Amino acid sequence: MKITQLLVIGALASIALLAHAAERPYLRTVDEITALRAGRSPEVTEKALARWQRYLELSDEETWALLPGPRIYRAMGVNRTQGCPSCGTKAYDAGGLWPFKCDMWETPWQVTCPSCGEVFPKNDFGAFYESGLTPDGLFDPERADRKLLFNTEHPDANDPLHTYGVDDGTGWVDADGHRFWFIARYCGYLWVQVTKDARAMADDYQRTGAPQLAHKVGIILARMADTYAEMDFSTQGVHPGSYKLGGDKGKAIWACGPTSEAVRMRLMLATYDDVWDIFDHDADLVEFLTQQAGQIGRPEWAGSAQAIRKHIEQELIAEGARDVMRTRAAGSNRYGGDVGHMAWTIVLQASVLDDEKLKQELLAWPFQGPFPLRGGMHEVLSGPILGREGAGGSSSPGYSGTHYRMSRTLADLYAKIEGPQQRDLHADYPCIKRSYDSQFSLNCCERYYPHIGDSGKCGSPGLICNPATMLEALEKFGDERYAQMAYFLNRHSTGGFPAEVAERVEAIIAEHGDYRPVSTNLNGYGLAILRSGEGDHQRAAWMYYGCAVTNSHTHLDRLNIGLFAHGLNLMPDLGYPERTGAWPKRGAWTNNTISHNTVVVDRERQKRAVVGSMNLFCRSPLVRLIDVSREAVYPQTALYRRTYAMIDIPDEDSYLVDIFRVKGGQEHHLSFHSAEGEVVTEGLKLARQATGTLAGPDVEFGDFDPKEQGWSYPGVGFQYLRNVERDASPPEQWSVTWQVEDTWNVLGNGKRAPTEVRLRLTMLGACDEVILADGEPPRLGKPNNPEALKYLLVQNSGDDLSSVYVSVIEPYQGASNLRSIERLPVEPASEDVEGMDAVAIRVEHADGVVDYVLSAHDGSVARRIGDLQFAGQWGFVRVRDGKTEAALLVGGTLLCGGDFELRPPLAQYEGTITDMDREMDAHNCIYTDADLPAGDALAGNWLRIANDGGQDACYEIKAIRRERGRTVVVLGDTTFIRCVKDPESYEAGYTYNFEVGDTFTIPVVARLESKP
Ligand SMILES: [Zn+2]
Ligand SMILES: [Zn+2]
Repeated sequence: MKITQLLVIGALASIALLAHAAERPYLRTVDEITALRAGRSPEVTEKALARWQRYLELSDEETWALLPGPRIYRAMGVNRTQGCPSCGTKAYDAGGLWPFKCDMWETPWQVTCPSCGEVFPKNDFGAFYESGLTPDGLFDPERADRKLLFNTEHPDANDPLHTYGVDDGTGWVDADGHRFWFIARYCGYLWVQVTKDARAMADDYQRTGAPQLAHKVGIILARMADTYAEMDFSTQGVHPGSYKLGGDKGKAIWACGPTSEAVRMRLMLATYDDVWDIFDHDADLVEFLTQQAGQIGRPEWAGSAQAIRKHIEQELIAEGARDVMRTRAAGSNRYGGDVGHMAWTIVLQASVLDDEKLKQELLAWPFQGPFPLRGGMHEVLSGPILGREGAGGSSSPGYSGTHYRMSRTLADLYAKIEGPQQRDLHADYPCIKRSYDSQFSLNCCERYYPHIGDSGKCGSPGLICNPATMLEALEKFGDERYAQMAYFLNRHSTGGFPAEVAERVEAIIAEHGDYRPVSTNLNGYGLAILRSGEGDHQRAAWMYYGCAVTNSHTHLDRLNIGLFAHGLNLMPDLGYPERTGAWPKRGAWTNNTISHNTVVVDRERQKRAVVGSMNLFCRSPLVRLIDVSREAVYPQTALYRRTYAMIDIPDEDSYLVDIFRVKGGQEHHLSFHSAEGEVVTEGLKLARQATGTLAGPDVEFGDFDPKEQGWSYPGVGFQYLRNVERDASPPEQWSVTWQVEDTWNVLGNGKRAPTEVRLRLTMLGACDEVILADGEPPRLGKPNNPEALKYLLVQNSGDDLSSVYVSVIEPYQGASNLRSIERLPVEPASEDVEGMDAVAIRVEHADGVVDYVLSAHDGSVARRIGDLQFAGQWGFVRVRDGKTEAALLVGGTLLCGGDFELRPPLAQYEGTITDMDREMDAHNCIYTDADLPAGDALAGNWLRIANDGGQDACYEIKAIRRERGRTVVVLGDTTFIRCVKDPESYEAGYTYNFEVGDTFTIPVVARLESKP
């Protein structure tokens, strides 16, 4: 049922018959119109009319007067921080970020607190509004009778409450100076509600043919057109972030962000398209609008069906499009840097207009640059926003999701245009197809996706794409893997798929089987996800090393790690902040480096920098790992490198080895937290700090210099960590175990139910101080988020400091799978090699199996660990009953023990690029004189190109072949284009992510597996 609906919505959004060969409505397909109208019956009409009874009871004059016009401020919310004058911030807990409820029928000109039920404002604003109406039917505050501005429950002028809660449209200010935008909020609601209702009435008009409905909609649209010229957000709109008046240019009827404005414009366009013909059939409507137009001195706005339509098309639709183009060019945030939303809207504006010249102008706009001053879609689709992987325009997967949708929709729209502006965007920009794969690859364990940047709630479940998205890809491209992905996401079933689609998908599954999750690495976006297990035993561990190109909704979270296992999110990001904009807790804590599972250097937040430099990515049957360096986020460091590996305890569990090497600066804090739940520690003697926060015993929670509030808060954010406990002389090995609670009732035993799931972190090696403290996820308006998460901070300090944080992180249910964990000595001793330790860990499983995990920054030095010899960046050995069962060597030349030997002749292949593909297509190769093994031997390994550092350049090898005396490395469906050379002139071509003459390496992966 749900799937079918989604498909229908998808089709609706994507169809525009721009050649206007068909009858109106242009924005619906012939099939859709036929299907809608086929259901017509007296019962259907009766139901629809009953649904719109309140509107139908209004006279034409009353309908005409419904919209408040431009001269009353419009807002999305009442207040940013104070909630409700009566019950305070409880209002946010009950109703979210924009809590106050409005109802134009039951409580006109009032807003109601969802928590305490108080109604504001306290004056009769309706009477004040009536008193201020001009002959043109619009409210003029200058004209209104200010004697009506008093609290109607306290009419006595000497009553102290006489002016309490009184709003003249500019908000009520309380004794502390906080402004409450009651009427502006109501007014913002009214525009949105009437727009939505008009849309739904127009839909019902198509469904029933009932002219009364289109009659109402016709009046509303004509009135919108009347008032549009005077719209001006900079003087009438309350900014949804700052709650201050104006700031951005543009008409912005609906007073929200660029996305919402675009969405609502599209609703209005589809509404007009649906009722287009009513003006031809409804003489009363034409007469009424003609009379109104005469009354307000604008007779040219009516007089005939044609004149009314011209009024709506020119004054509202075309002017709306021009306003977007004008204000985008002026850099306004109201129609701002959103990727593709406005482009989509403008194409739809073009498609409902019959003005051929304007249409051509509008259709050209989305592909003009530079972005974001114009549509800029060429830059979006060939540059770092979507070009490489179809992913990662925003670091937040949710916000990137809108980028995918925009590009797909534009492809559909341009394909349907008849005439010279028709374009095949799939052929021009293969990244649109790749976006389906990227989006799918973000899902983890069939239940989650990594909450990078502003996305999701703290630890909450939910997928980033649904089965319908993959069915859409199957229909467009025919690749069978999309059928597998759709089936997989639909809980391994075709339930709810349309019958024909279900049949096709089932046939593909019968032939190729279900989709099997694999570890993925999006090097352009900067996200690696290590995966293992099946069904309820799926595990996914991720590391984010990217950089949001659009710099929106991003956190300072490079080399942040996460984990999903045992059905739960075991390392949740704090998620969407309490408030966007320059909100103190957002800048100092939620977005700040300290709240993430990474390392803070010198109590500073990370600097913005391009994507980290990937050293290793490897997936083998037992071990998967990602290794990234990212010194640019802390320029004082010579090394800022994390190696994160997932090692299976077949078949149902894994443990993780995390090695974070930092060299440089004077102080390091490794920050780590798991999910909600109490912790127990082993090996630590913690002393409680009686008062204050980690910022000091006398610094209260959330306190800081007001000058430092906001976006660029420079500090570490310690004032957001309270209930501080410390061990200032910890031993060389200790552990902390989180007793995880099921915050979101994923396991079905209730919200915050205790579970048997534990996450144990065992730290191996000396450190100066261990700190435990409570960190607070966004709470305001998010009452279901955890109240606190237990944070672990591991601190070192000293001059030209080196830290090697080595931990084994083990998720388990019930009893631990590991009997012992210990760090082994390595010879030669560490200081010989760049001051950074080589690391060797021995892990003994409960069943006696022993793993050796080896890691070195410099893989060229031969080392001895007991009986093992090792020269490499990563080594792994598994011993069962005294016999080596598996061994893995990455980026090295030596790993051997008593009964096995791995001695690849090279640690890495090296070469120089002599030629490269430069087109934007799905088949990309580089060419080299290097002698590389032909065939599949290196397939799945990663090629690392030493480029100029402008963006990381690692690509997965698909195959290698010899061709006319040179070696061809096939890198497949990607692009080597980094961005357009000159945003002002697209003809100048592209800048590439690397160039001929750059060198590359391919770390060698050597493996030994003896079947037990
Ligand atoms: Zn309240
Ligand atoms: Zn974050």
